[in-house]
Amino acid sequence: MVPIDLRSDTVTQPTPAMRQAMAGAEVGDDVYGEDPTVKKLERQVAALLGKERALFVPSGTMANQIALMLHTRRGDEVVIGEGTHCAEYESGAAAALSGVQLAVAGTGGLFDVPELDAKIRPSAYWLPRTSLLVVENTHNRGGGRVFPLDQLRAVTAHARARGLAVHLDGARLWNAAAASGVRLDEFAATADTVSICFSKGLGAPVGSALVGPSDLLEHALRLRRMLGGSMRQCGVLAAAALFAIDHHRARLTDDHEHAQLLARGLCNVRGARVDPRGVETNIVNIELDGPSAERVIARAKELGVLIGSIAPRFLRAVTHLDVSRDAATRAAAALAAAITDCHAT
Ligand SMILES: *Cc1c(COP(=O)(O)O)cnc(C)c1O
Repeated sequence: MVPIDLRSDTVTQPTPAMRQAMAGAEVGDDVYGEDPTVKKLERQVAALLGKERALFVPSGTMANQIALMLHTRRGDEVVIGEGTHCAEYESGAAAALSGVQLAVAGTGGLFDVPELDAKIRPSAYWLPRTSLLVVENTHNRGGGRVFPLDQLRAVTAHARARGLAVHLDGARLWNAAAASGVRLDEFAATADTVSICFSKGLGAPVGSALVGPSDLLEHALRLRRMLGGSMRQCGVLAAAALFAIDHHRARLTDDHEHAQLLARGLCNVRGARVDPRGVETNIVNIELDGPSAERVIARAKELGVLIGSIAPRFLRAVTHLDVSRDAATRAAAALAAAITDCHAT
């Protein structure tokens, strides 16, 4: 039996229709700026986010790192939320490539104006220069939580008033928009640059975009080249992203419902702590009282469910394109059984 894979929304397989769109894509050499499908994707994403220009890049990590390079100088400090992707999951790139240090505001990924303000340094040449705020929406480690638009507007306005640039890591901004009813461009308007992924909930195999004003993006083109991210006939990849935007965006709310099914199926299981009200999008964090995440992961695998952990006693389940409603229901039962088995022994 094929296991139900809840480790991440990156594990999806391109659908037959998506593969067909990829196979039929009109392509050219994008280093020469001659790939019409890439151009189409970049225009469409820029328009969706209400920005002047978008740049197709191989990964969200590269989009974030280009943004850090654009907005900072070596020795600067960047304010981030706790558990942010660019601090935790990018192999130390912020330090290695941009030479910046990171200051964490608030807890759990979200923060308010006083928490941000406490991390912005006064201006003095012997102190690091605080030059950038990075906000993540939805927040990955924070359990897919949406950074609410009002709060996002307040913190980013404060950051700007104190002279900081703002980068929005919107790898899952599609989910934030689907869950909150806020438009993508309303979220994007709070930031100078935005990164957005096609390979998460949208289900494309590869790719992200960095979006922002033309002058910054012109330099981003050079930085992408430096990082080895300028690609040739990558319209075959852009075609998958275009297909995903057209066909997989509307169904993201299904993933959110399936995450609710999981959360509600687990909230009364002894040994597990889940609050369905805290599940806003497609990520369910499960805190374990007794057994280690490692043991539950092994038992769940025997019962046909693959799941990941974000800490020794925290499981993370993510719903996506390849998890049907029925699969989510079965996965909830299997995970409940796995946790109960591990709790009892
Ligand atoms: C997945 C993700 C990224 C980018 O990841 P890549 O694997 O490099 O595409 C960036 N930010 C967040 C919040 C993510 O979840």
